[in-house]
Amino acid sequence: MKHHTLLLRVDPLDPETAAISRAGEVIRRGGLVAFPTETVYGLGANALDAEAVRRIFAAKGRPLDNPIIVHVGRPDDLATLVEDVPAQAFDLAETFWPGPLTLVLKKTAKVPDVVTAGQETVAVRMPRNKVALALIRASGVPIAAPSANLSERPSSTTGDHVFHDLSGKIDLVLDAGPVEIGVESTVLDISTQPPAILRPGAVTAEDLEPIIGPVLMGAQKEVLARSPGTRHRHYSPRARVVLIEEEGPAAVERYTIEGGKIGIITRRPDLYPDDQAFVVQAMPADLEQYARQMFAALRLLDEEGVSQIIVAAVEETGIGVAIMDRLRRAASDK
Ligand code: AMP
Ligand code: MG
Repeated sequence: MKHHTLLLRVDPLDPETAAISRAGEVIRRGGLVAFPTETVYGLGANALDAEAVRRIFAAKGRPLDNPIIVHVGRPDDLATLVEDVPAQAFDLAETFWPGPLTLVLKKTAKVPDVVTAGQETVAVRMPRNKVALALIRASGVPIAAPSANLSERPSSTTGDHVFHDLSGKIDLVLDAGPVEIGVESTVLDISTQPPAILRPGAVTAEDLEPIIGPVLMGAQKEVLARSPGTRHRHYSPRARVVLIEEEGPAAVERYTIEGGKIGIITRRPDLYPDDQAFVVQAMPADLEQYARQMFAALRLLDEEGVSQIIVAAVEETGIGVAIMDRLRRAASDK
């Protein structure tokens, strides 16, 4: 369906009431609104309206077997969505909500099957971004929202990215500029024990373990079976991505597969000569700043028309675990 997509700029710290109530009205009517969260931009619809949620899948070209996270405005809203909320969920919400932690729990009959891709569990999060919270409260319903990008492509971390991918396909974009974190939320399954991280994010295993004890990490096979989304191609620009451990022109040459311009994402731009064959995206040494710029760097190199992107690995500490998870998936061909 062809839409005119309205773009409303909002103040990230004090979002304008008129824009927020207009966006809330669109959600209540069954429409689609893209909005900032602290992690990445989300593409939202009324989570209790199956028709509206189907429109999200259509706009993104998202496979129907990939479930969507439901965003709530307060921890008490868990009661509508989740059967017998366990004490563990309240403990985690107390510590990490509002914030970048998604909890997977047993769903109630109120949650439409399309949201959970037919699974008996639902993923829920309370974001801390002021625009996101204002929108959820104005709409008066929980908001189902995956990342606001075309399926398979890098997530959107600015309103421009959203507009580039989804203009003409959705009703409204609330543009509050660049996001705070830049990688998607940590997804933690507490519907079975021991709890398992299905997707790493800004909340790390070391952050969680003092509160809930040992957690499994996503590489284990049974964990992957619990997280359908991780089976799909994800975060990929059009150019082929290759992740390398060693850096420098010699390494780049060894890993060059495609002809044409080569993009390089590196924290050591000094290693690469000024050369027309290379488009170098210099990244910050600090991993939190790196995370904030990662998806923008992938998108930018696509716009430069490079045929291949060579990315240097980062250390897997703190948010580096989430960065490397996204880079590995961007570099995989399924
Ligand atoms: P995104 O589209 O970027 O928001 O991704 C949502 C992520 O949450 C995907 O990796 C999904 O597989 C995961 N997810 C959502 N709902 C569930 C659920 N009920 N069980 C397991 N994983 C889920
Ligand atoms: Mg996504």
